[in-house]
Amino acid sequence: PGFRPSRDGTRPVRVSLEFFPPKTPAMEETLWASIKRLEPLRPAFVSVTYGAGGSTRERTHATVRRIVEETALRPAAHLTCVSATRAEVDDVIRSYAEAGVHHIVALRGDPAGGIGTPYAPHPEGYASTPELIAGIRQIGDFEISVSAYPEKHPESASIDVDIDVLRQKVEAGAARAITQFFFDNDVYFRYLDKVRAAGIDIPVVPGILPVQNFRQTAAFTARAGASVPAWLAQRFDGLDDDAETRRLIAAAVAAEQVFDLVDRGVTDIHFYTMNRADLVYAICHLLGLRPLAGQAQAAA
Ligand code: FAD
Repeated sequence: PGFRPSRDGTRPVRVSLEFFPPKTPAMEETLWASIKRLEPLRPAFVSVTYGAGGSTRERTHATVRRIVEETALRPAAHLTCVSATRAEVDDVIRSYAEAGVHHIVALRGDPAGGIGTPYAPHPEGYASTPELIAGIRQIGDFEISVSAYPEKHPESASIDVDIDVLRQKVEAGAARAITQFFFDNDVYFRYLDKVRAAGIDIPVVPGILPVQNFRQTAAFTARAGASVPAWLAQRFDGLDDDAETRRLIAAAVAAEQVFDLVDRGVTDIHFYTMNRADLVYAICHLLGLRPLAGQAQAAA
């Protein structure tokens, strides 16, 4: 309360950054170059996503552990209920605590059979996100963030059902929601109005996806519960073979979106970095974030 960022960057927004665990040594190098470049901007926290399957889980854990060991960043580890017993999930929660992680992004996760198939909880697992949150709180004193869907979750009958699920997550102990990405800010503010009207008062932090690759983004938006407005497609039209102009457009589009959010009172922004630093760094710079001097030299 009382804190308001400004468009001229003299009162910067608070940002958080999302990464995914790398699959190959080359991807690992890209991720760590990005983390080191973004670290001096002192984001409020950095989160690492979690996948189904043992090897991707181990990669999440390894990435989070390395963030604790090698950086001054505050990590948030994502965790889902999918395809695991309570005992297995509880072990992951304990191992996060032991690694010095005190913030979990608690999620149900996608159906084990893939998006579009019905969701069935593991018979001995946590059946839903509110149950998972209750389990986390039994194990330790974690800060808990959850998801929110301004354009409704693809499986959901309506926004109202979604908001009811959000309420259950808050009642279970969630302190913050991070939205699925969206491109039309009016969609976010209409959703926020409904959330507030339902009596939910936790921060609902907009998740922003700087579009690195328009075609790829357009292909997965519907599955994620998001849409691509016609004007956005129009902006990238004709640039399929022109990566350099696409990057400039991507920066302009994302800057326009975040400035509008700031003008309309948003104080916190979560960036889906896709493990790349350049666009996010530039947008953070526009928002007034500057590197700490010593860290900037180390990162250079
Ligand atoms: P919830 O918010 O718990 O539920 C989603 C929807 O399911 C509800 O809105 C409702 O429509 C329906 N539903 C759930 N419970 C009930 C109920 N009791 N009654 C009726 N309907 C119900 N996926 C990963 O695999 N790993 C990640 O790291 C990851 N990180 C994410 C981070 C963010 C910020 C976001 C927005 C999504 C992330 N996802 C991740 C995707 C997410 O796992 C999928 O969207 C998944 O399908 C739903 O998980 P959730 O926690 O959002 O579900």
